[in-house]
Amino acid sequence: MIYPHVCAVCHDSLVEGEQVMCLRCLTELPRTMTHTLTNNTLHERVAAPGVAVDRAAAWFNYARHNEYARIIHDAKYHGMANLAHQCGAIYAREIAGSGFFDGVDLLLPVAMHRQKLRERGYNQARLIAEGIGSVTGIAVGDNLIAAKKHATQTRKNSWQRWINTRDVYTVARPIELEGLHVMLVDDVITTGATMLACLTAIHHSVHNVTTSFVTLAATARG
Ligand SMILES: [Zn+2]
Repeated sequence: MIYPHVCAVCHDSLVEGEQVMCLRCLTELPRTMTHTLTNNTLHERVAAPGVAVDRAAAWFNYARHNEYARIIHDAKYHGMANLAHQCGAIYAREIAGSGFFDGVDLLLPVAMHRQKLRERGYNQARLIAEGIGSVTGIAVGDNLIAAKKHATQTRKNSWQRWINTRDVYTVARPIELEGLHVMLVDDVITTGATMLACLTAIHHSVHNVTTSFVTLAATARG
C-alpha cells in the first residue's frame, strides 16, 4: 500500500524528508508526554486489582473533531496500513531515547476478531507494533486472541464498556510469556476498557509477567 504524499493532518504536500505529517503538524502535534511520567493518567484508566502496569504512554491527545484524529481514522478506516506502521516507527524514534522500551521483551498488539480482520484486511494495532519493532528491535507477538466479537463501544459508558469487553480477549500459549516484560500496543486508548481486558487476560493466565502498554492516541477520559 502506498501512502499518498500529503500530510495526514492538514493534507498539504509533503516535502523531502517528511513522513506522515508535514513539519508544522508534527511540531504542533498535541503530545501527551506520558512516556516521561511513571504514574500517569493512562495508568489510572486501567487501575484494577491484580493488574500491575509498569509503563504507559500515548503519543498524542485525540479528540473526535480535531484534525489530528485523521491519523487514527485513516489508519483504521481508509485502508492506510502503511500510515499505522510509519506512526509506530516515528513515535518509537521520538521516545526510545528516554528508555521507555528498555527491557521490554515482546510487543503484543491488541487483537482483532478474525471476522473484523477479514473485513478490514489488517489489524492497525499489529502494524503500529511492527513499526515500533522496526525501530526498537523488539519482536511482535501474536499471543493475544480476540475470541469473541464485541458489540460497538460507541454509545456505552465505562462500566458498560468494561462488561462488554472483559471476556473478549484470551492468551494463546501463556507459557511463552512467563518471565517476560510484554508491552501491549493499540491505536487509541479511550476509557481503558479494552486495554484493561487485555491486561487482565494476561495476568490471569501468566504467573510471572510484567506488563506495559503504548498507544498512538489517547482521548480525554470518558
Ligand atoms: Zn500538515
